[in-house]
Amino acid sequence: MLQDTYKLKGKRAQLVSELKSLGIHAPNVLRAVDAVPRHFFFPKDFLDKAYENIAFPIEGGQTISQPFTVAMQTQLLDIKPGDKVLEIGTGSGYQSAILKVMGANVYSIETVERLHQTAKMLFRKLGLDIATIYGDGSKGLPELAPFDKIILTAAAPQLVTSLTAQLQIGGKLVAPVGDLAVQKMILVTRNGDNEYTESSHGDFNFVPLTGSNGWAI
Ligand code: SAM
Repeated sequence: MLQDTYKLKGKRAQLVSELKSLGIHAPNVLRAVDAVPRHFFFPKDFLDKAYENIAFPIEGGQTISQPFTVAMQTQLLDIKPGDKVLEIGTGSGYQSAILKVMGANVYSIETVERLHQTAKMLFRKLGLDIATIYGDGSKGLPELAPFDKIILTAAAPQLVTSLTAQLQIGGKLVAPVGDLAVQKMILVTRNGDNEYTESSHGDFNFVPLTGSNGWAI
């Protein structure tokens, strides 16, 4: 599916070791990082940076997330093959590809049209069957709910029930929540109709979520 034409497999193996040393232990996440050529999703002039554990600017003033952040969010979601997953913030498409190679059915929504179009074309070229949607993901995707898992890849000012209510019972949502400078990584599990549990997993720094439930910037 993902043919690696650029000989960077060794660098990916090094990245996997680094992620392990930082506490990423889920074998399916580590296998996915090893399988997905991050340089396909990276700005062409900076391919030598593609396997550094750093976030990097992409078009539209946005970023491709740091590999540790992608791995951490994915690990928290406990992805199983066949999971129906909503990603809010397609960006470069790297996170969507990680979820897809883990066997998830991925729906990814992006608010910057140019990024949406670029990711859509890239997924087609790579043979990745990922549903891409252009629009405001801060409202979720109620017409396709419920989802087994929801991932926000942009910083939310708060968690709103209109999003958590789009989870299946037993489903999980992961989101960076806080102010514009620093956010806590929050994991929400839906245990029943009106029953949710929340846990916090460290500090992160994401670009802002915009739209009706995001920041007015
Ligand atoms: N998942 C991405 C990747 O793997 O490259 C990283 C995405 S970047 C950190 C966050 C993305 O969220 C940006 O592309 C931004 O345009 C998008 N975004 C921000 N607010 C949004 C919204 N309301 N709906 C959909 N996408 C949004």
